[in-house]
Amino acid sequence: MRVAVVGLGAWGSMTAWRLARAGADVVGFEAGVIGHDHGSSHGATRLYRRLCVEHAGLVPLAERSAELWRTLEQEAGEPLLTVTGGVSIGPADSALVHDSLAVAAATGVAHEVLDAEAIRARWPMLRIADDAVGIVDPAAGILAAEPSVLAAAAAARRAGATLHDRTRVDVTDAADGIVRVDGREERFDQVIVAAGAWTGELVPGLGVTPTRTLVTWFAPRPGEEAQHSAETLGVVVVAVEDAWMWGHGALPGGLVKLGPADDPAFVPIGPDALPGSSDPRDGALVSRLAAAALPGLDPTPTGMRPCMYGRTSDHQFVIGRIGERLTVAGGCNGHGFKHAAAIGEHLAEVALGTEPTVPLPFADPVRFAAAAA
Ligand SMILES: Cc1cc2nc3c(=O)[nH]c(=O)nc-3n(C[C@H](O)[C@H](O)[C@H](O)COP(=O)(O)OP(=O)(O)OC[C@H]3O[C@@H](n4cnc5c(N)ncnc54)[C@H](O)[C@@H]3O)c2cc1C
Repeated sequence: MRVAVVGLGAWGSMTAWRLARAGADVVGFEAGVIGHDHGSSHGATRLYRRLCVEHAGLVPLAERSAELWRTLEQEAGEPLLTVTGGVSIGPADSALVHDSLAVAAATGVAHEVLDAEAIRARWPMLRIADDAVGIVDPAAGILAAEPSVLAAAAAARRAGATLHDRTRVDVTDAADGIVRVDGREERFDQVIVAAGAWTGELVPGLGVTPTRTLVTWFAPRPGEEAQHSAETLGVVVVAVEDAWMWGHGALPGGLVKLGPADDPAFVPIGPDALPGSSDPRDGALVSRLAAAALPGLDPTPTGMRPCMYGRTSDHQFVIGRIGERLTVAGGCNGHGFKHAAAIGEHLAEVALGTEPTVPLPFADPVRFAAAAA
């Protein structure tokens, strides 16, 4: 079967890899250079967590993803997922604690529940309230972001895929299996569009809005380095004020990465307008949250880089078949990297017509088609 993959970020490169491994004749198209920094997948790291408060159905997806990441590490010969363990912390009555416990109960995923005293004993660098509850995910960790995209693309090529970079294609007729490359038609049995924040522009009616965000890094104050290493701090999600802040400790030679779950500075953007874009509010919220929760850090970000993701009104992915020959994958809502390997497998299975290893009924694009009708 001849399959086109349009977009070779984290989701598309993993899809090309899983398709090629399943024996498909894969042709991938990427508008930029594979691993470029104008989309969603760039930068050094992303968080890996299994306690996905966004939807309980994402827990098996995250677990399958970790298995596939280990396979990719073996094929690539390099480490890509560093397990540190992680904790989600908030007041007992917060949505973060409530939803984390609900997801843990619904899925039976291994976890530990700590009170404020136990959290302070294990994470003394965190400033937390006396009524805080912590839910520990021992399998949480840090994914190497750009290296994973490059590793998946290289593994896809080794398995026989043909991947074209600097090739922006037109998918107007993708429902008929047609991809236009420089005005020339190429025909495929199946087309998968995994174009990140461009997905809504390429395939209208999916409810995907490109949204600008930031990656921000922080330096520990002098003498605080050991307390804020990846090994010691691990992966944290903390409810601070009315917001959530996520992050991880510094890997050797790196910095502490922190970001807010949502921010007034995260605004809709034309996806080609990202490079060099800025907003006067950039970094303000995360600086304030960092000062409140991690006093051992200098709260002024050491570095900031624009990034973006496709956002949907219900914050869920848009993944599934929308025609006999067309499958789409977008709307990552800023939490899709950890799932990329299993999403790649899922998209390959949908295109090849085999039973999905992890079904994703809640991501079906039909919900937006129904709303638009
Ligand atoms: C700041 C930030 C922090 C994040 N942190 C986390 C985290 O800690 N954990 C987590 O799990 N997730 C996180 N995410 C989300 C995660 O990074 C994304 O879900 C993931 O990278 C999505 O990858 P993608 O392949 O869908 O998109 P992209 O990487 O943007 O790939 C889409 C590709 O399609 C290409 N393309 C577009 N149009 C065309 C065309 N016409 N022809 C050919 N190619 C085309 C683009 O050039 C692009 O390379 C974060 C996201 C951001 C922005």
